[in-house]
Amino acid sequence: MGRGRVKAKETGLGLYCHVPFCASTCDFCAFYQEKPHRKDLDRYLAGMEKELAWIQPDRPIDTVFWGGGTPGLLPATDLKRLGEAVLEFAQQQPLEWTVEMAPSTVKPDKLKLLRDLGVNRISMGVQSFQESFLEGLGRLHRPRQIYQAYDWIRVAGFENVNLDLMIALPGQTVDDLKNDLEEVCRLDPEHLSAYCLTFEEDTALWVKLSQGKIKQDIEKDADLYEFTWEFLTDAGYDHYEISNFSKPGFECVHNLNTWKMKEWIGIGPSAASQYRNIRYSNAADLDVWLDQTESDVKNRCEVQLLTEADLLEDTIIFGLRMGQGISLNELQQRFPQAPMEELRTFFVSLETDGLVTFENNDRAKLTLKGKLLADKIAVEFLGLAG
Ligand code: SF4
Repeated sequence: MGRGRVKAKETGLGLYCHVPFCASTCDFCAFYQEKPHRKDLDRYLAGMEKELAWIQPDRPIDTVFWGGGTPGLLPATDLKRLGEAVLEFAQQQPLEWTVEMAPSTVKPDKLKLLRDLGVNRISMGVQSFQESFLEGLGRLHRPRQIYQAYDWIRVAGFENVNLDLMIALPGQTVDDLKNDLEEVCRLDPEHLSAYCLTFEEDTALWVKLSQGKIKQDIEKDADLYEFTWEFLTDAGYDHYEISNFSKPGFECVHNLNTWKMKEWIGIGPSAASQYRNIRYSNAADLDVWLDQTESDVKNRCEVQLLTEADLLEDTIIFGLRMGQGISLNELQQRFPQAPMEELRTFFVSLETDGLVTFENNDRAKLTLKGKLLADKIAVEFLGLAG
């Protein structure tokens, strides 16, 4: 098997499979997920096969991403069944095939099975190496399970591994964060995602925040992001997207294609698709989705016919978050109708405010200050575009 590093292709078609099962709900989580029951698993797998049979992709699938939920929670026989259905659909061995696994679900038999299928990238949700923070997040795993799982992943032969870390945790100091970053660098994964904790409405942490049991300190959080970005860059990782870092050649191609507004097909409850100029999602409810697949109802939610203006807008918003920034020339070539003068004026105003720099008078890249204010810039841009 190859190293799992592939060049980002301009015309990639991705397949996202949502596995909506989790053993318990983490305190920060707002993703759609359910506790698994055997009868639901069988119906779910049959539904995934049905959805794949409904769609005839117009080109082979380049990248596959199994996310959740916790895909690694599926027993090995179920992973095999889903994997074989995906391979048949893909029309080729995918160049990059990622499976998300929680440390407590990583087992040697599952890893061997995934390797045999052709999975070449494992993404593991570590969040923190410190027990007290894991407890505070409501995560089921403990630090020793992270080390054991990582060891098994490497022994199984995976050479492209992502670890997810969470930053700006309640009560986290720079020293706590430094400890996590040192630990993650010692493990030496090819890819790292460092997401800041967000308090999504109706999650257990959001309730604690609204009751004043935990506090958020936005200024301190900004210091923690800055510290993380500098630490990981110094450690040799390329900060290729605002929350993502990789060693050269190990960027997540599936996600890059999504951020570049290419095309992907999503299957499973709540999965979103962007295919043949239509954006849509599946019902975010296992029972509804099961009823639909079992009765052959191809019901799509939030259907949006994509115009060039929609794609241009999203390409700019997501493009600004990427380390390589946005080339105005490339934008003009891809979107001939784009209002280039207005766009240049917008970027120049960001430059005046010290939020972007221009490379070769063409490529706009966020500065450190710009990265810290990326969400605000996106809102400002949407106001301008809307
Ligand atoms: S494992 Fe992931 S999807 Fe499941 S509850 Fe935790 S954060 Fe949410």
